[in-house]
Amino acid sequence: MSTGQKPYANDVRFQSIKTLVDKIQNADAILVGAAAGMSAACGYHFFYQNDALFEKYLGEFGRKYGFTGAFNGFYYRYPSREAHWAFLARMGYMEYECKTGKPYYDLMELLKNRNYHIMTTNQDFQFTRVVPEEKLSAIQGDSRYFQCSRRCHDEIYYNKEMIYAMNDAIDENLCIPSELIPRCPKCGAELEPWVRGFTFLEGKKYKDEYRKINEFLEENKKKKILFLELGVGRMTPMFIQEPFWNLTYSLSHTFYITVNPKDAILPQALIGKGIAIKEDIASVLRDAVALV
Ligand SMILES: [Zn+2]
Repeated sequence: MSTGQKPYANDVRFQSIKTLVDKIQNADAILVGAAAGMSAACGYHFFYQNDALFEKYLGEFGRKYGFTGAFNGFYYRYPSREAHWAFLARMGYMEYECKTGKPYYDLMELLKNRNYHIMTTNQDFQFTRVVPEEKLSAIQGDSRYFQCSRRCHDEIYYNKEMIYAMNDAIDENLCIPSELIPRCPKCGAELEPWVRGFTFLEGKKYKDEYRKINEFLEENKKKKILFLELGVGRMTPMFIQEPFWNLTYSLSHTFYITVNPKDAILPQALIGKGIAIKEDIASVLRDAVALV
């Protein structure tokens, strides 16, 4: 193992990874819930820090306006709509250009030929590169799409061409031309990224994401289900973590595994029905693949 650790049978970390592999191989169904820790495991820290990718794509915005991380850039109050959209265009461009992280490939290797579904609160659509649409539920939106900022109608718009055109047009003042600001074809209001926020459109696409999860659970609720949680932080436990705990507790043949370097928690009520692996997600997935 490249961690330098030998897989002694009494090693807690090794035993945990072995349990992870055994549970994946012996489950009838696996529901994966992945959040921000998965991006961090890929070495992408640009949402919260000025890492190398942030510097490459957003560094000039960070320096001009004095913010740290893409998340703060997203909520920054820019001096004009043209400046605001220049940032959104560059951030969107970065997400489209960003390579898919190795942990995604390792996870898919572990799930190969298994009956699985993946739900994610991540909006960076990395999963869409490795998982078929019908096996994926993006429950907090997907930044490949725009919606009407007034939610005047229930439609979302694939934005890659708009993003690239806007990014190409960013001038030396870090603004785009007004006429490139994307507008709703029905009401003329600005479009905005289809991601969780005060005006998030919970329309047919959103409902469809939950329909896929519910159908998967309905089909498999009497079988052996593994709930596998990857990188869910303590800020928004209501979307993945608490439902996973409740389902593990209330259904009969279930098991819960959480992998998280910081916040791996096994509730008292789930002792015997789950494990918490407080380790780096990337190395756990990599070492699990080596065990298969
Ligand atoms: Zn509209």
